[in-house]
Amino acid sequence: MYIGIDIGGTGIKAGLVDENYNIVVKDSIPTPKETYENMLNGIIGLAEKVAFAGGLKLSEIESIGIGCPGSVDDKKGIVTYSNNLDVPYMPLGPDISERTGLPVYVGNDANCAALGEFFALDEDVENFVAITLGTGVGSGVVINKKLYTGFNGAAGELGHTLLAMNGEPCTCGRNGCWEAYASATALIRDTECAAKENPDSVLSKMIAENGGKANGKTAFDAAEQGDAAAKTVVDNYIRYIAEGLINVINTFQPEVVVIGGGVSRQGDNLIIPLREHVKKYVYGSLEGVPIGDVRIAKLGNDAGIVGAALLGVNK
Ligand SMILES: [Zn+2]
Repeated sequence: MYIGIDIGGTGIKAGLVDENYNIVVKDSIPTPKETYENMLNGIIGLAEKVAFAGGLKLSEIESIGIGCPGSVDDKKGIVTYSNNLDVPYMPLGPDISERTGLPVYVGNDANCAALGEFFALDEDVENFVAITLGTGVGSGVVINKKLYTGFNGAAGELGHTLLAMNGEPCTCGRNGCWEAYASATALIRDTECAAKENPDSVLSKMIAENGGKANGKTAFDAAEQGDAAAKTVVDNYIRYIAEGLINVINTFQPEVVVIGGGVSRQGDNLIIPLREHVKKYVYGSLEGVPIGDVRIAKLGNDAGIVGAALLGVNK
C-alpha cells in the first residue's frame, strides 16, 4: 500500500492506494497556514489517518508520495517555490522521511496527475502526455514509461509554450502562451468579450442572468442552443487547444494524450472536433499507426492522489 498526498491552495487530499493503483481510503484537511511546522504536522497526521482507516500502521506503508503546486526538485524531494502556499520553500521529502522512517517522494502536482492518468490507461503505452485545462494549463510528460522532469524537476510546462507572438498576457509574465488561450480562464475571458460585442445573443442573456459572469460552461451551453456568437467562441477555443496539442504531439509523438480539468466534462463536444483538427494538421502521422490518440482523462480529481502515490513506483 502507498499513500498519495495532493497539496492544494485550499485543501490537502490524501489517499491510501493499493497495488492495483486504486484509492481504497480518502481523506482531506484544509491546507495548514502560516508555518512549515504546521504543514509537516498536517501532512503526517493525514497520512497516519488514511493508513489507520485502511487497517494499517504508517510503518506498514511502502512509501509516501506528495504532489505540490509550484517548482519541485523531485530528486531532493524539496518544494523550492510555491506561490500559492503560505510557506514557499519546503524540504518535505527529507523531513517527512526522517519523522516517519518511510521513503518519501515529492513531485509537481500536474506531473503527479499525469502519472496517475498514465497508470490508469488500459493499454501498454511508452510515451504519454496529460493536459489539464483549468485556471491554467497543467501538463505532464511521460517518456519511455518514466515521468520526464528535466534536470531541475521543472520540465513539462507545456502551458507556457508560445502560441502567439505578442499575444494575450500570461501569468508567467510572457505574452501569447498556450495557457493564455486554452485555459478555462481564457475561455471565460473570450466568452465575456463575445457577449459584450453581441448584446442580443443568447450568450449575452445567459451571462446577464448569471450576474454578469461567465463560467467555463457558458459558451458551450449557448452554442448548444444554436447561438452564433457562442459557437464562434467554442470553435476558436477548441482551435487554440488543438494548435497547442499539435505542438505537443509533434514534439513528443506520444501514443496517447489525455485532456483533464473542468472543461473536459464537455466530453464529445470537445474531443470530437479536437481530434479532427489534430488529425488534419499533425506532422508525421503514419497510415494505420495511432499517434497522439486524444482522449478525455479517466481519473479526474483523483489523478493527483494516485500519481503522487505512484512516484515511488515510477522513480
Ligand atoms: Zn506563460
